[in-house]
Amino acid sequence: MAEKLFLEVVTPQKAIVSEEVEIVIAPGSEGEFGVLKGHTTFLTSLKIGTLRYKDAKGKERYLFINGGFAEVLPDKVTILAESAERRRDIDVERAKRAKERAEKRLAEKSEGMDFARAEVALQRAVHRLKLK
Ligand code: ATP
Repeated sequence: MAEKLFLEVVTPQKAIVSEEVEIVIAPGSEGEFGVLKGHTTFLTSLKIGTLRYKDAKGKERYLFINGGFAEVLPDKVTILAESAERRRDIDVERAKRAKERAEKRLAEKSEGMDFARAEVALQRAVHRLKLK
């Protein structure tokens, strides 16, 4: 049994989290999964959503995760995310603007509009706003 569990959350821009945790709950592409220390090794992709964890003091923390990958080892969870923000770092006005832009594009259905791109932009904004 592993002694401790560490969580690393990194994006191409920066490291967001690097600390000891009690439990991690992540948005796997096949559904949410929880990890305690000693978990079996596995790899999975992640969808847009919320990553929750309890820090070493037992306090619940929340992060927005813009998809990516998770590597689970018995003593470490590594999350490689396209982008991610801690709840306190989410800019509500920015997310609202992104949501409005995406909704407008989806409603207009103009020729050449990239529907899938607008859909995921909307999903990102909605999930960010859910956390505030
Ligand atoms: P926008 O259209 O506002 O740029 P987006 O969903 O396209 O939003 P991303 O591609 O996910 O943005 O992220 C680009 C960078 O901006 C990342 O570093 C991400 O953490 C940051 N970011 C995006 N939206 C927000 C937000 N609402 N609050 C804080 N940081 C954000």
